[in-house]
Amino acid sequence: MIIERFRADEKVALVTGGTRGIGLAIARALAEAGAQVIISARTDPGGSESLRAAGHDVEYRPADLLEHGAADTLVQGVVRDQGRLDILVNNAGIADHGATEDFDDARLDRLMSVNFDAVFRACRAAIVPMRTQGGGVMLNIGSISGFISNIPQKQSAYNASKAAVHMLSKSLASDLAADNIRVNAIAPGYIMTEMTAGGFANPDWAPVWTDMTPMRRAGTAEEVAAAALFLCTDASSYVTGSVLTIDGGYTTR
Ligand code: NAP
Repeated sequence: MIIERFRADEKVALVTGGTRGIGLAIARALAEAGAQVIISARTDPGGSESLRAAGHDVEYRPADLLEHGAADTLVQGVVRDQGRLDILVNNAGIADHGATEDFDDARLDRLMSVNFDAVFRACRAAIVPMRTQGGGVMLNIGSISGFISNIPQKQSAYNASKAAVHMLSKSLASDLAADNIRVNAIAPGYIMTEMTAGGFANPDWAPVWTDMTPMRRAGTAEEVAAAALFLCTDASSYVTGSVLTIDGGYTTR
C-alpha cells in the first residue's frame, strides 16, 4: 500500500532544533511514523517531554551548534549509541534582521555558524555512517528567503545563508546518490513559530507579510512537518536534490 511508504519504523532520526516550532513538529511526525527520534538544541523547554508523554520514542541531546565540533559530535554520538542514523533533519536556525552596513562580524559569524556551517558539518559527519549502513536521508530546512529577498525587513545574511543551504542540498544529492543517500531541502514561507512571533506582532511587518502571501495567512509547523515526513521516508524514494517550497503561494509573485 502506498501509505506504508510514509512509515519510518525502525529508523533512527536526528532532528536539530527539534525542541520547538518546525523542528518539534517534524520530530512528532517522524515519531508518529514509527521512528526512534533524537532531538537536539541548546535547551528543551518541554519538547521531548511532550513527545514522550504521547508515547513516542524520543530522546533529547543538548548541543550548541555555534560551537565548532558540536554538529560532528552530535551526529557521531547518535551513530555510536544507536548504531546507525537513517534520517538527518538539519532544522536548527536563527533569524537576524538589519541593514547590511550595520551587520557586524559577530552577527554574521553567529548567523552563518548556525544556519549554514552546522548544516554542512552535520551532513559531512553523516556521510560515512550512512554510506556504510547502505543509505540514508538528509533533509535541510532552507527558506523562501533563499529564493527571494523578503520585505519590509532587511535580512541579506539570513537570505544568503538559506540559499547556501539549498545549494549544499543539491550538491550533496548529486554527490551521494550512488551511495543511496537522498538529500533534499524545504523552503518554508512565513510559518507561525517563536522565530516569527515578533514579526507577526509588528504592525509594520505583518500586513506586508500577509499581503505578499496569496493564501493570506501564516503556515503552521505541522504543514511543514507533513512535507518533511514525505521527504524523509520512502514516499519520496525518487526525490533527491529538490527544494520543496511550502509558502502559501508567496513565491508565485
Ligand atoms: P524556532 O521556533 O526559533 O526554533 C529554532 C530551533 O533551533 C529551536 O529548537 C532552537 O533551540 C534551535 N537553535 C537555535 N539556535 C541554536 C544553536 N545555536 N544550537 C542548537 N540549536 C539551536 O524556529 P522555527 O521557526 O521553528 O525555524 C526552524 C527552521 O525553519 C530554521 O532553520 C528557520 O530558519 C527555518 N524557517 C523558518 C520560517 C518561519 O517562518 N518560522 C520560515 C522559513 C524557514 P534553542 O534556542 O534552545 O537552542
